[in-house]
Amino acid sequence: MSDDKRNVTDILNEWEKEATPRRESITPQEAVDMLNSLLKLDASAIPALTDHRVQCNEALAEHPTVQVGRATTWRKARPDLSLSEDAQHTVGLVGLLNGFFGMNEQGMGPIGALYQDVCDTCHEELNRPEDKGIKLGETCPRCNEGTVVIGPLVGFKNTWADQAG
Ligand SMILES: [Zn+2]
Repeated sequence: MSDDKRNVTDILNEWEKEATPRRESITPQEAVDMLNSLLKLDASAIPALTDHRVQCNEALAEHPTVQVGRATTWRKARPDLSLSEDAQHTVGLVGLLNGFFGMNEQGMGPIGALYQDVCDTCHEELNRPEDKGIKLGETCPRCNEGTVVIGPLVGFKNTWADQAG
């Protein structure tokens, strides 16, 4: 080995000592914790990434663990987020990340994105204990006029941990 090559190796070894520990594996909970810490770091970029959907083809839609949605459902749920009119299937960040972990018996990946339900008329956040179980599209229990719609992303949770506990 030439002196030049040894020098490069020495430099790389020094970098490695200073670098954060590398990981060879990650649990669903660690992935969720990481996403939540990133959301705290940037409450604008992470929701935008999480809400983003791109058109995908039939082959990806049929992948056994990556979660791919129907474009029609997405357009209905989030008309505020534009999606190409000819899109049939859509995939987003969480669907892709869930693909790394596989699915449980219910066909669910472990990472869930939590959204705050809000009223489209009085704009109240429906996050009180008595609001638990409220469904999208129902009449707002505050003003009795508006409709419950998806509000802002508030965090991520490990849905598999919920089932175990
Ligand atoms: Zn309302």
